[in-house]
Amino acid sequence: MSLLTVEGLTKKFGGLTAVNDVSFAVDEGRICSVIGPNGAGKSTLFKLISSFLSPSAGRVMFDGKKVSGLKPHIVARMGIVRTFQETTVFKEMTAFENVVIAHQLGLNAGPFGIFLGTRTAHEDGLRIRDSAAEILDYLGLGRVKDELAVNLPHGYLRALGIAIAMAARPRLLLLDEPFAGMNPEETDRAVEMVDGIRKRGITVLLVEHDMRAVMRISDWIVVLNFGSKIAEGDPESIRADDAVIAAYLGE
Ligand code: ADP
Ligand code: MG
Repeated sequence: MSLLTVEGLTKKFGGLTAVNDVSFAVDEGRICSVIGPNGAGKSTLFKLISSFLSPSAGRVMFDGKKVSGLKPHIVARMGIVRTFQETTVFKEMTAFENVVIAHQLGLNAGPFGIFLGTRTAHEDGLRIRDSAAEILDYLGLGRVKDELAVNLPHGYLRALGIAIAMAARPRLLLLDEPFAGMNPEETDRAVEMVDGIRKRGITVLLVEHDMRAVMRISDWIVVLNFGSKIAEGDPESIRADDAVIAAYLGE
């Protein structure tokens, strides 16, 4: 069974169909990318999957359960966690403090927080600090953990946004344009980071305008154009697909 299944998903804004009858599935432990020209419906699709928007038709299934219609924080607690295009970071705090706070918010989110049981607040605090340090280390942010977020270069700030999402313990991590505005060196580091996330068993779904970057890391690619799926397949077949080439040349 696939971890995520999107079935006939449609979203209309007035007369505009932003997402039009889109279906695809993502298997656990894989990296799937949704690509397409600007305005293709990628961000809308993301908001439908994370339940920030309700579909006009169709549904999203996660681990066999229907997600559409549930509140976003419930969906996040089920394991679908997204980052935002504008990174939500406390700029006057260090990278480390930002991830600690994200952990604490998760901890306080309800009875299914990160740490169950009868540990003391002090023990929980120590575990949160260990976990935050570990997340920052494996995302390559260990060296800058004590820097104020406001002083971090763009690539590191984006990575910090991912570290904050990781603190919520996702099973499916949604990344909206993780490589946007990055120079080639930052993109290389971010590609490695996303690969490292998958190696820890987390399924990744990303939307990205830049076809070249996703070719390097994706197991599976879904291509949208004007809201509709025009192709899906492995990177090799997508690279050679006439409809995909036409959509990108037509921009
Ligand atoms: P992408 O992320 O692929 O660039 P979007 O999903 O942001 O595309 O947008 C798809 C289409 O839906 C665009 O034509 C956009 O203008 C429109 N759209 C997106 N959000 C809204 C909204 N809240 N209200 C009306 N139209 C919207
Ligand atoms: Mg977008």
